[in-house]
Amino acid sequence: MNLVCDLHTHTVASGHAYSTIEEYVRRAKQVRLQGFAVTDHGPAMPGGPHYYHFANMRMIPRVIDGVRVLRGAEANIVNENGQLDLKDEDIRWGELDFVTVAMHPRVGYEDHGEDKNTEVLLKTFKNPFVRVLAHPGNPKYPIKIKEIVAAAKEAGVFLEINNSSDFSRPGSHDRCVEVAEEVKRAGWQVVIGTDSHLSTMLGVFDDALAIVKEAGLTEADVVNTSWAKIEKYLLHV
Ligand SMILES: [Zn+2]
Ligand SMILES: [Zn+2]
Repeated sequence: MNLVCDLHTHTVASGHAYSTIEEYVRRAKQVRLQGFAVTDHGPAMPGGPHYYHFANMRMIPRVIDGVRVLRGAEANIVNENGQLDLKDEDIRWGELDFVTVAMHPRVGYEDHGEDKNTEVLLKTFKNPFVRVLAHPGNPKYPIKIKEIVAAAKEAGVFLEINNSSDFSRPGSHDRCVEVAEEVKRAGWQVVIGTDSHLSTMLGVFDDALAIVKEAGLTEADVVNTSWAKIEKYLLHV
């Protein structure tokens, strides 16, 4: 399976990542990856970027040295109403392409078990900028997978298979396979991202590809196997 774009990367702006956009561009050329999305953590993350970071993303060229650079964010869910730490006006000002959302500890919303987590995510999916739910297989934030996949499909949100899950969120593997299987059953698609926090991680999809393979997914079940699909599903906000 060939992926044209890595949809999840963090730059130095995230506060706990270690490469710049230009280092990612260089790396993308080295590994013949056509593009990547800059998805730095939202402002609620300790050490994360100020909201100006997002409102100013329109300064980042769409293409740098032949590599497509998508403007994104990994926004945090900050409360039980499913609200994000990014305002609509910042997303518009920055001319962001899409917003990924995630549940992280100590940024506002803490794990309340699968019923509550699911309820909160369903509220978040109502935000029209939200296109991706990052690392839904995280056992620290359990969700009702069947319900989430159905609601995500309805809302045009894609569940991510995250290449760093086994490393960053131990115990994710089986839940990630379950997510991928349910997405396939529901006739929806996943996105794949590396969640790179250093440029050497960019374009290394081995673990995520093993998960989607185990779940029986093919290129047709993954959005970022073609630019046409990325444009159709992610870049239409
Ligand atoms: Zn995350
Ligand atoms: Zn991330």
